[in-house]
Amino acid sequence: MEPATGEGRCPHCRAFWEGGGNCPRCFHLQSLEGVLASFEMAGPARQAVHALKYRFVRALAPAMAPHLVCASSGHSFNAVFPVPLHRSREKSRGFNQAELLVQAAGWDAEPGLTRVRNTGRQVGMHERQRRANVAGAFRYAGRDLAGLRVALVDDVITTGATMQECAVLLRAAGAREVWGVAFARASYRVALPDAPIED
Ligand SMILES: [Zn+2]
Repeated sequence: MEPATGEGRCPHCRAFWEGGGNCPRCFHLQSLEGVLASFEMAGPARQAVHALKYRFVRALAPAMAPHLVCASSGHSFNAVFPVPLHRSREKSRGFNQAELLVQAAGWDAEPGLTRVRNTGRQVGMHERQRRANVAGAFRYAGRDLAGLRVALVDDVITTGATMQECAVLLRAAGAREVWGVAFARASYRVALPDAPIED
């Protein structure tokens, strides 16, 4: 599996980027302190994400979670939020894959963040559509996060629009830092903001 670290990537969001410094897309991810991801969304890493999410192979979570722990080593988070699904989606799937990963990593899932609007599957939407699609889709009604370093966990990060939207709310609740933590980084080499994104 290809690690989502090292040269040729944006140091902030970990997407493929050879321009040096932060990539242009990070302009839209300003509420995130950074992205910590284990693998590029390709090959076996992609198969694992899809098997967990679409074929409901829950047994994969304990195999994937240690990579999240590894990716976030050195960061001591005060609160860990799984990126929430809308309750209708969670009901039909039977679980939230982000929550499974948080539990399997041995972290306590922090309550209070919910998805109040069903945003549907974002596969095939381009960047701007994704940002519009998740705008206002979340609510935070949890504890005061003043001064805390917070993680948002998901199986895969693609444009980062979902995590950014959640991060805005957590920052508004006082969080000092909000980090995106994901098993896979679905970065894409073609810099066309209107190109549909597969993952
Ligand atoms: Zn970036």
